[in-house]
Amino acid sequence: MFTSPSRYIGRFAPSPSGPLHQGSLVAAMASWLDARAHRGHWLVRIEDVDQPRTVAGADQLILAQLAQLGFRHDAPPWWQSQRFDAYQQVFDELARRGLIYGCGCTRREIADSRPAQPSLRTDGEHPYPGTCRNGLAPGRTPRAWRVRVPPGIICFEDRWMGRQCQDVGAEVGDFVLRRADGQWAYQLAVVVDDGAQGITHIVRGADLLGSTARQHLLCDLLGLPRPVVMHVPLITAADGRKLSKQNGAPAIDMQNPLASLMSAWQALGFAPFDCPGIGAFWEYATTLWAGRWKIAPEN
Ligand code: GLU
Repeated sequence: MFTSPSRYIGRFAPSPSGPLHQGSLVAAMASWLDARAHRGHWLVRIEDVDQPRTVAGADQLILAQLAQLGFRHDAPPWWQSQRFDAYQQVFDELARRGLIYGCGCTRREIADSRPAQPSLRTDGEHPYPGTCRNGLAPGRTPRAWRVRVPPGIICFEDRWMGRQCQDVGAEVGDFVLRRADGQWAYQLAVVVDDGAQGITHIVRGADLLGSTARQHLLCDLLGLPRPVVMHVPLITAADGRKLSKQNGAPAIDMQNPLASLMSAWQALGFAPFDCPGIGAFWEYATTLWAGRWKIAPEN
């Protein structure tokens, strides 16, 4: 585990499906400013757990972009593709405790199993109704392994969004930790890695707000402390969806890094200011961020 002299360890965890774009820069900036304002440490983790979505070379491109924009990580980056043994260990422990079961349902079957009930979730996924909780139907083979979600409501205080509560069992259901083809789920990987890296604070885009209760629930099951969270509003596409390469996210203008930083800064709700260069931008932005979030300088 990485140890920090301050009580704060933050991280930026990009998925290498392409270079950073203006949308991902906003999340990177917020996590970096918050770590600096707390005099904490800031780590970078390349989330290439979803191998089909990983684009060769995008990791190095992202690291080069971050360096050119003046971000400095405090320890060598981690790659999730090198962490599969750790995921397996945690998976085995949960399995030993009877908390995992194989599920043979297809997406279609899950969607059809509650036709009268519209999806409760903003991501459009349907809650899993627990069909295979007590064993697979004869002749079925597992397509995925799910965790048994204990009953109860998970509540947490989001520093930006305020208090959030989710009944994970009802709104999400038992969720997938691993697919039958061996693919590890983001929810498991992120919790295992945040725990192993000693992450105390997560600052990331609001598209992941809906995943937080699941991640806190896994922390509780594994005896890991829940990180403090802040979800920052994302720049959205014209249709309101998260910006992605597919729907025209503006690329970062690397010829003009200061202008790109200033535009991400404005997306976080701050007014632009004049400054001579990247170093001065980060200095002043850190002070303003600390003021906005009332972070005491002696922290
Ligand atoms: N890898 C995720 C993404 O790029 C972020 C995960 C996280 O910050 O927890 O959307």
